[in-house]
Amino acid sequence: STDVTERHRMQEERERLLAEEQRQVQRLRELDRMKDELVALVSHELRNPIGAIRGYSEMLLDASDLDEEHRMFVGVIDRMSAHLQQLVDDLLDLARLDAGRIAIDPRPLSLTRLVRQAVDDHRPEAEAGKLTVEVDLARHLGVHADPVRLRQVLDNLLSNAIKYTPEGGSVTVTAHHDGGEVVIDVADTGIGIPAEQYPKLFTRFFRASTAQEAGTKGTGLGLAITRAIVDAHGGGITATPREGGGTVFTVRLPATPAAGA
Ligand code: ADP
Repeated sequence: STDVTERHRMQEERERLLAEEQRQVQRLRELDRMKDELVALVSHELRNPIGAIRGYSEMLLDASDLDEEHRMFVGVIDRMSAHLQQLVDDLLDLARLDAGRIAIDPRPLSLTRLVRQAVDDHRPEAEAGKLTVEVDLARHLGVHADPVRLRQVLDNLLSNAIKYTPEGGSVTVTAHHDGGEVVIDVADTGIGIPAEQYPKLFTRFFRASTAQEAGTKGTGLGLAITRAIVDAHGGGITATPREGGGTVFTVRLPATPAAGA
């Protein structure tokens, strides 16, 4: 009978631990939600004042009567406020994606046009960095996606590829069908990412050591947003080292069903 009471006692202990664990999970969920709300609130409140700083610093830069030194000071204010604005926009975007408050509105799209436009809009940036940009798209690439959000994905991958590739390098965008999916590759010959850092790439605020050593600026939020958008489409994104140096980002998205299928 001591056996029976012992078993009974252990059972009670297990139940107590289980209940405790459930309370902890509940508490963590609540904290997580509060964190999201706080981030959204703070970002929202920061948006307008930062926008005003940016606007007035731009007006000062446009005014011609600044001397060299003052122009330099205002230039710093302008660049720093631009960086803050980007950070706040990214945080807001992430908070909304987290809360499921960004409605993804997928529809049948021609990927060919969307990619061409995105690449063309990034050409000046690429030329400034003395990079060549190549595009190789299969014909009739139909993708089931939200045009605004997909454009955001392409913009982020293209501007990263350009930012992280030194002069003389190249950026190549290719896309093709693979089963029921469309696969988009954005490859560059840039600074790359150390092998052991790949697993962290899509987490918030992460910046690879190569990017930091190269002295580039960034928030480490772009890829987290990009992944959230791709995931919301039921797709996937991965990064792999490019043979010969550089990085390849691969996005998979659902294709539009073939006509008549
Ligand atoms: P950000 O560019 O603002 O730092 P991202 O979230 O877009 O943030 O990217 C996270 C990190 O991933 C970057 O800081 C950089 O270290 C790395 N990364 C992204 N794209 C590339 C690329 N094309 N080549 C090399 N590193 C990259």
